[in-house]
Amino acid sequence: MRLILLGPPGAGKGVQANFLKEKYNIPHISTGDILREEVSLKSELGNKASEFMKRGELVPDEIIMEMVKERLMREDVKKGFLFDGFPRTLNQAEQFDKILKEKNISLTAVINLNVEEEVVIRRLSTRRICSNCGKIYNLITMPPKVENICDECGGKLYQREDDKEEVIKERLNVYYRQTEPLIKYYLEKNLLYNVNANLEANFTQKEIEEVLKNFS
Ligand code: AMP
Repeated sequence: MRLILLGPPGAGKGVQANFLKEKYNIPHISTGDILREEVSLKSELGNKASEFMKRGELVPDEIIMEMVKERLMREDVKKGFLFDGFPRTLNQAEQFDKILKEKNISLTAVINLNVEEEVVIRRLSTRRICSNCGKIYNLITMPPKVENICDECGGKLYQREDDKEEVIKERLNVYYRQTEPLIKYYLEKNLLYNVNANLEANFTQKEIEEVLKNFS
């Protein structure tokens, strides 16, 4: 399985990715997670990226492509992969195609999570994440049993800097301008599968399983 999860911020890509990586035993590659890790390590890359991320803008393509190339050199991608949050621009998608061609591999499917804007805004502003294991919660639809504490590992929950309302609006604008054109791009390559991501995560999960049945 070589998959891409496409969709606006707050579509539920992270939640679906957690399920898909287990089910298909493939590495989950989230460029956002890699960047946040670099930011917290205060690496050179992290310092460069953090200004863009704080404003809800995209990190420049060169930085992202370097990161992705490096990640694709690891052994584990031989099993397949699941990209989440990448590609995010047409340029990234085209460069990614070139890399895959050089490696003689092709994508299995691109899953597009369709979701309405008001659902996304509500979801992102109530999203909380475990600072220890990364599990994603929602204060309304998937709250932890004990306030601010992760059910799985007891870690403290936090709100992402860019999940604050002003930044959410900018991230959505960026999505419409730069990422949405990828839907057409992958549609024309016959790789695109749409699923409804407006409802709870397990409904979306079932739709994705239906799509992927054809490939496993
Ligand atoms: P995410 O966790 O996918 O929402 O990503 C968080 C932030 O990281 C985004 O708002 C961007 O600033 C940056 N980012 C993540 N992936 C990419 C990408 N493929 N291209 C450019 N910027 C990215």
